[in-house]
Formats: sequence, C-alpha cells, structure tokens
Amino acid sequence: MQRPIYLDNHATTAVDERVLEAMLPYFTQHFGNPASINHQYGWEAEAAVKVARQIIADAINCTAEEIVFTSSATEANNLAIKGVAEAYFSKGRHIITLQTEHNAVLDPCEYLEKLGFEVTYLPVQQDGLVDLDAFEKALRPDTILVSMMAANNEIGVIQPLAEIGEICRERGAFFHTDAAQAIGKIPLDVQAMKIDLMSITGHKIYAPKGIGVLYVRRRNPRVQIAAQMHGGGHERGMRSGTLYTPQIVGLGKAVELAILEMESEGSRLKSLRDLLWEKMAIIGDIFLNGHPEKRLPGNLNISVAGVDGQALLLGLQPVMAVSSGSACTSAKIAPSHVLKALGIPDELAFASLRFGIGRFNTKEEIEIVSKHAITTIQSLRKVGKW
Ligand SMILES: *Cc1c(COP(=O)(O)O)cnc(C)c1O
Repeated sequence: MQRPIYLDNHATTAVDERVLEAMLPYFTQHFGNPASINHQYGWEAEAAVKVARQIIADAINCTAEEIVFTSSATEANNLAIKGVAEAYFSKGRHIITLQTEHNAVLDPCEYLEKLGFEVTYLPVQQDGLVDLDAFEKALRPDTILVSMMAANNEIGVIQPLAEIGEICRERGAFFHTDAAQAIGKIPLDVQAMKIDLMSITGHKIYAPKGIGVLYVRRRNPRVQIAAQMHGGGHERGMRSGTLYTPQIVGLGKAVELAILEMESEGSRLKSLRDLLWEKMAIIGDIFLNGHPEKRLPGNLNISVAGVDGQALLLGLQPVMAVSSGSACTSAKIAPSHVLKALGIPDELAFASLRFGIGRFNTKEEIEIVSKHAITTIQSLRKVGKW
C-alpha cells in the first residue's frame, strides 16, 4: 500500500536532503560548543553558526547581531510578546493583534491579560485582511506592541506588512510579525516594512523541527526585550541555552535555498494550486476561503457545501494527507477560529479543507488528488441526497 500524498506543508515539511547533508557533520565531527572559545572544536561550531546567522540576516535585511536563535516560532512569539510587555509595561500596557493569529500569539496575549495588560483582538475583513482604518482607530498612546502575522497558516492570506509597519512607526508602537509561514515564500524586508520583531521557524521551510529565530531590531528604534529563558547569557542575554549547532546550520541552508528558489518555486506552486482549484471548482458549491490573490502560492483553503466534514476527511485520508477546518479542543470538535473570524458559518467551516502544496509535490499528484476529492465529494452528496 502506498502512503497518502502529503499535502499538509503548512503543518510541517520534510527535511530537504540538501539541508540534512549540510547538518550531518555537526553531529559527530564538528560537535563543539559554539560558546567554547578556547579550542578548535568551539571555533568550528561558532564559525558555522556565524555563517547561518548571516544568511538569515541577509534574507530579511537585518544585521547578524539582530538574530536570536530559539527552539521554534512558538518560543520566538512568546519571547517577542512577553519580552516587550515586560520591558515596556511602565510605558504602556496595551497590545493589538488579530483574531486570526496562530495560538502561539493569541495564548501569550491571553496570558498577559491575566497579568493586567489590555489586548485588542482586531477582527479581519471577509477576505482575511486587516482593516487598516479599524487598526488605526484601535491604536492608543499606551499601545506598546502590535502583533500581526505575515501569512496565515490556514488560509495563506498575506497581510499588508509595509502599511502596518508604517502606521506602527508613526504611532510609536513596536511591530512584531509572525512570519513562520512567510519566510522564504514571499519577500520580507524588515527595513522597508518597518518590522521591529519577527518570528520564523525551520520546519515549515524544509529544515528540521526544533529551531526558530526571533529578529530583534537594534537601532531606529532599538527594541529591548526581557529574557524569558535565563542562564548562560547566550544570544546577548536574550535567550540562554547552548546553541543547537546542527539545527542552526540546517536553518541557514534551508533559508538560503528557499530565497534562491523563491521565484521559480513560487510560480510552480501557484500553478499547481490554481490547477487544483480550477478542477475542484467545476463541481460547484465549493468556496475559496481567504483573499483570492493576496495569499501564499501553495495554499488552497476551501469549504465544501453539502457534505459532512468528518465523512469527507475519512474519504480523503487513504489518498491524501490534508487538514480540516476544525480542531479538536478538549475532546470536542470546534470550527477553526480563523474561519470563524472570516464569518464562515459553522457547518461550512466543519466541511473545510486546507491543502498545503510544497516543494516535493508534483503535477501528477495534484491530478490524482483532485480526481479523488471530486469523486468523494460527489458520492457523499449523493448519499446525503444533497
Ligand atoms: C507553525 C506556526 C507556528 C508555530 O511554529 P513552531 O516552530 O512549530 O512552534 C507559529 N505561527 C505560525 C503562523 C505557524 O504556521
């Protein structure tokens, strides 16, 4: 039996062989601690970390000193949000974010509310984009931080980062963006977009799990964050813990490849995505979720009318690995908070599918997937006498 076709690249990606190959010597051979300054083993590891740091800095147009390695985007988001809140609470206690953010942003915000901070969870428009006028109205003199994601992990919608950054700079609030889905897929420039803090992760761009980055602006303006992990003073005191050299080397290689191939891979993914959508749309009563153009090239999120979401997923599972528009929270199934924020009715949200097309998917796979999805939907609709 063949395994299902993997189309869940927003959840995680396979490690690219080229990334793995770059990492391997750093497990057994160049295994030194990058903080060991007295011998060659340490110097070798430190040199590799330095190369990776510079690659990542170049990719987003910042300096190497502004890159802080973390274990994940979750940790980077926590460090950015709690770190700014703790460093600037005497200046203000108001934070603005979006209802469609990842839980790794929403949950730290909720945590801060318990500590006495005030958080505005801005609604989004029907297409998933932030309403900039509503955003400007929500800003207050005591707003210290705005956290708005670069690209959404469910619907792929890309927020107008440069416009948001401009408004934040004008109004004196720091701008953090969760770019876990965006890095290597769309151009990101922290200077042009006036981004002050940015989270990225390895395992969505063909590097391994367990490595992330927080970019922290050092000048114009300088951003201070309170450490959330205390110890040996690594990463200029912002995140202690021995650097995970092999993962860092892997992330550097993955970012380098993604930037190098961004244009060609982006148009390849877009044509696969458009092909899938065109084929599926033919059967009717299927709705595209999120803005039709301002979205990641490999993302397709749809709601299917006239079918039961669980039955649909069960029918698809033997052939493809995709995600549904619902999540199990404490044993009961709830529709995704992102689809809810778009105003999609619960019954359609339950019958939603997220296709995340990635680097290793082929046109043949998309043909197989669309055929099987169409047959499954049609037979479910027949059974349901829809
Ligand atoms: C995957 C993801 C995260 C979490 O990243 P981890 O590295 O798995 O912690 C955060 N935000 C977004 C938008 C994501 O897609």
